[in-house]
This record gives sequence, structure tokens and C-alpha cells, in this order.
Amino acid sequence: MERIVLLGPPGAGKGTQAAELTGRLGLPHLSTGEMLREAVRSASPLGREAEQFMSAGRLVPDDLVLGILRDRIARPDARDGFLLDGYPRNRPQAETLAGLTALDHVLFFHLPEEALLDRLTQRRHCPRCGRIYNLATRPPRIPDRCDDDGTPLERRPDDAPEAVRTRIRTYREATVPLLDYYAGRGLLRTVDATGSPAEVTGRILRLLGR
Ligand code: AMP
Repeated sequence: MERIVLLGPPGAGKGTQAAELTGRLGLPHLSTGEMLREAVRSASPLGREAEQFMSAGRLVPDDLVLGILRDRIARPDARDGFLLDGYPRNRPQAETLAGLTALDHVLFFHLPEEALLDRLTQRRHCPRCGRIYNLATRPPRIPDRCDDDGTPLERRPDDAPEAVRTRIRTYREATVPLLDYYAGRGLLRTVDATGSPAEVTGRILRLLGR
């Protein structure tokens, strides 16, 4: 069992890979973005507070995110291992995480910036089951419907161009410094995130010695 963090810019494929790896590695997928979107859908107090930050492409304040992460990571299925997707996003979050649990690997998804914009504009997701599609490279079988449950696909509000620009800038300013932080701790493993989802999965499994 391993404790793995997925780190990388928006659109690099962290969510897509986590969905694939969760079954292959037998590890739960913990996505703070998904947890927050769920809170927004259910209009909980947290969701109502988080929504304004998310739709603008900004980070939700650390204390709000920490609350949901701490609860999730304490659940029995995550005790011995997990795939953590979307956390940490800045240095204070990394330090908080270090106080909660040890890590085995931090997988850094490396991708040129042009590719990110392409992937984010083509991205659609199922609001019901969370499955991720790409209209160009991984379209649904029936246009605009989820393959699994037929729900109409949606575009994430934060995939609109203005929010995307903010998310990429936030990534550069707040998250990129974590590469040095984790490299210095001997945890950083860089993955070439170009190519098809299957190619990237293959690279990750090799890197993990599977
Ligand atoms: P994601 O699905 O990981 O792209 O996250 C979507 C949005 O949720 C982000 O743009 C942030 O607004 C918020 N979010 C997710 N994870 C975090 C985090 N660790 N810290 C702050 N905000 C977060």
C-alpha cells in the first residue's frame, strides 16, 4: 500500500489517471476538487462558501479544504494508502499534509502549457458519476451523454477561458514551488503526461515498479 500524491497543472490528466489507477493499484481516489464540487452541488455551507472561489479559478481557503481532507483521509479505506489528487496546492497545505501522514511518492505530471489549454477546452464531465471525457480524444459513445449512466455531460464552470487563465497562474505561483519542496525530500517522480491516457498510465505503473 502506498500513499501517492498527484501533482501538476490543471488539465494535465490527474483525475483521468487517478480514475484508472484506483482500480489497478487498489487505492482510494481522494480528490479535493471532487469533494468541493460535491459540496457545491449539495449547497452545504462549505459548498456555498467554496463556490465563489472555484468558479473564479482561485484556490479555496486552506482551512476550508483542510476540513474535508482531514475527514476523508481519516476514513478506514485510506488508512494504508491513497491517491491524493488536487492537494496540496501550496506550501502551507504541503506542511499540513506532512503533519497528517507520510508519503511514498509525489507524481508530477509534466506537460507543455499549450497542451493544457487544448485539454481544458475539450474537457467535459458527467455531473452524476464524475467520469471525464475529452471531445477530441475520448468522446462519449452517444454525443453529450455519459457512457455509464446517460446523464447529459457538462463543462466545468472553471474550464471557461477566464477561469482557466487564473487557474494556470495560481498553479505557477502557488503550486510550482512544491516541486522543489518534494524533490528536496526525495519524493518527486516526474511523469511525461503527453500522449494518450493509456500511455501515461503505462509510464506511471513502470515508474512505481508495477
Ligand atoms: P480540481 O478538480 O483539482 O481542478 O479543483 C477544482 C477547484 O477546486 C480548484 O480550482 C480550486 O478552486 C478548488 N480546490 C481543489 N483542491 C484545492 C486545494 N487543495 N486547495 C484550494 N482549492 C482547491
